[in-house]
Amino acid sequence: MGYVRGLKCRECGREYPIDPIYVCEFCFGPLEVVYDYKKIKRKLTRKNIEKREKNLWRYRELLPIDGEPQVGLKSGYTPLIKADNLAKELGVSELYIKDDTVAHPTLSFKDRVVAVALTKAKEFGFDTVACASTGNLAHSVSAHGAKAGFQRFVFIPATLEPSKIVASLVYEPNLVAVDGNYDEVNRLCSEIANKYKWAFVNINIRPFYAEGSKTQGFEIIEQLGWKAPDNVVVPCASGSLLTKVWKSFKEFKEIGLLKSLDTKVYGAQASGCSPISTALKQGADVIRPVKPSTIAKSLAIGNPADGFYAIQAIRDTGGYAEDVTDEEIVEGIKLLARTEGVFAETAGGVTLACTKKLIETGKIPRDESTVMCITGNGLKTQEALVGRTASPHHIKPNLASFEEILSKIGYDRS
Ligand SMILES: *Cc1c(COP(=O)(O)O)cnc(C)c1O
Ligand SMILES: [Zn+2]
Repeated sequence: MGYVRGLKCRECGREYPIDPIYVCEFCFGPLEVVYDYKKIKRKLTRKNIEKREKNLWRYRELLPIDGEPQVGLKSGYTPLIKADNLAKELGVSELYIKDDTVAHPTLSFKDRVVAVALTKAKEFGFDTVACASTGNLAHSVSAHGAKAGFQRFVFIPATLEPSKIVASLVYEPNLVAVDGNYDEVNRLCSEIANKYKWAFVNINIRPFYAEGSKTQGFEIIEQLGWKAPDNVVVPCASGSLLTKVWKSFKEFKEIGLLKSLDTKVYGAQASGCSPISTALKQGADVIRPVKPSTIAKSLAIGNPADGFYAIQAIRDTGGYAEDVTDEEIVEGIKLLARTEGVFAETAGGVTLACTKKLIETGKIPRDESTVMCITGNGLKTQEALVGRTASPHHIKPNLASFEEILSKIGYDRS
């Protein structure tokens, strides 16, 4: 009990008690959870963490709950993979994949944020949870919400990938497909959230929800042997994950779990929806909203809520941001699969293709260590690859037909 001090406005610093609220009444700034780091420092030692179960709740003192974790008891602690084949291909010395393609239960990093949001929703006494989603959040709210016994309302843009719609419907939420893009879905949901007493995970529960993203950063540090990487590349939709990965590194430094911290943070976007990387490259302070048009639908937020803070983190650390075309995204997905055996969704293609660009342009030095946050599974967005992979070798069911293929591909039996 009692590691959270309250909520605080990021703009004017005004403090609020812990409630399902997300915006400052005075300046409309976003609210953020603040902790008692002195108290956490005494409790959250490396030894204590290492003794705990391998899930995201092993860092629970740095998560905004009062009681026991109630949702996502097997979520988090995904592999950190040393990507030597890919490093060789890209010409860098040390490269890692933080592999949330295998997140439990719905194969994306959203399982982290929803685990925290729904635990908090239980503590607040809500019986209904809801969200506005670009796809992966729909899966996670539907699944975690089913297991935790919530009524679920899930709002998506009607143009979402068909496979992502099916993978939400299977959990039988109330799925609402809205004729509009994500930003329009989100605006509608803000209106609904004002009227109905639901826990909208990324609206009125957002300060708590967003904290769940820190667990990806905590795990990276622990899995690197309690060291921070020189560079971390993070895909950006609203920009929340990026700001929270950076917050997680700073918190581990603050409570003494990290000796030194000199990481540069990089943002990755699709060129068809790049409000954050565009503003950063132009040196602008305001983000100009865009109308998304990209195959990376999970990142297709044209008016990113945390974009300003993401840019701040990138600038403060000396990082940079890049964006890549749909073509480059598909090449990125294929390169990751071919070299490391990891099949990522379009957002992963964005992260890899941007990392490649950052290396080629010298923004990421070749002799430094880099972690790429690969945030979702490729089985979710197979549409992006249809017609863009090789075809199978088609044969008759006999040996001769098979060996014809062997000679055609030039397979050497010796
Ligand atoms: C939601 C999402 C992100 C980024 O989300 P933020 O809104 O920037 O926190 C990244 N990758 C995938 C696969 C996602 O679903
Ligand atoms: Zn304020």
